[in-house]
Amino acid sequence: MSRVGFIGLGIMGAPMAQHLLNGGHKLYLHDIKNPPFPLIEAGATVCTSAAEVAARADIIIVMVPDTPHVETALFGEEGVAKGLRPNTIVVDMSSISPIETKKFAKKINALGCEYLDAPVSGGEVGAKAGSLTIMVGGSQEAFDIVKPLFELMGKNITLVGGNGDGQTTKVANQIIVALNIQAVAEALLFASKAGADPAKVREALMGGFANSRILEVHGERMVKRTFNPGFRIELHQKDLNLALQGAKAMGVSLPNTAMAQELMNACAANGLGGMDHSALCRAIELMSNHQIAEA
Ligand code: NAD
Repeated sequence: MSRVGFIGLGIMGAPMAQHLLNGGHKLYLHDIKNPPFPLIEAGATVCTSAAEVAARADIIIVMVPDTPHVETALFGEEGVAKGLRPNTIVVDMSSISPIETKKFAKKINALGCEYLDAPVSGGEVGAKAGSLTIMVGGSQEAFDIVKPLFELMGKNITLVGGNGDGQTTKVANQIIVALNIQAVAEALLFASKAGADPAKVREALMGGFANSRILEVHGERMVKRTFNPGFRIELHQKDLNLALQGAKAMGVSLPNTAMAQELMNACAANGLGGMDHSALCRAIELMSNHQIAEA
């Protein structure tokens, strides 16, 4: 049994923390909002700051939206660094900048502690099922210590390389997911405009070479018009920004990622930034003045 800190208990963090609690670990929670009551009821301890979490836990997990939130949680006025004891392991499971991650890791290492970047894929469904894919950057030693916790939250767990490599893998993941959503939206729009039932088209395609988790999960959302998040468009914009900034810095071209980001931008401009990223189909639909299915 470990003493585990968990900072950031939103759509993803809450179910992930629940799995750790179910696994018998002692949990110390902190969120800038009130942590979800079921976790407290199940025995987790609420801390008033990230620094207090750090003072009480041996492994500290962070699961907040973006790079600036991680920076505040780790190095803010009442951040983790203020309460950190040597030999603690800090594990950032948020999806953030690989470049900033390397800087954060160095600062945590300088305090005598280990750092793992360990972003996830699999969404709210995977977080609830404990079946997340976890992509890790950091030392083998720290990975081996934290692995039993990862195994409570996920299934496909890979130490990719050093600090930053976990986040780089996640950015690559987000490129594939965005382009897949775009492909599914265009295919279903085409089929629907041609007069075929998009629900039946999706079903038919799920048996063949065009099948994907995106066709299954996001395709269903497009047909049933269920755009409540899930994974918000504004978070996917953040991830594609990381991809495009990285591409620019390295001098490589990601033409289709740029297109997907423009479609996300169009959705956000139409007030859909808080909707699930399957709502990307709205941008495609507006261009053709045709909706895949009725609400
Ligand atoms: P969320 O907005 O639902 O939850 C984030 C939580 O962090 C909130 O409860 C917020 O109050 C808290 N928070 C923000 N700043 C904080 C701070 N400084 N200290 C303490 N708490 C703070 O977001 P989410 O959907 O759970 O996503 C979290 C991360 O996981 C993001 O980086 C996202 O890109 C990634 N992710 C999300 C999904 C998904 O499907 N939602 C899937 C894979 C990865």
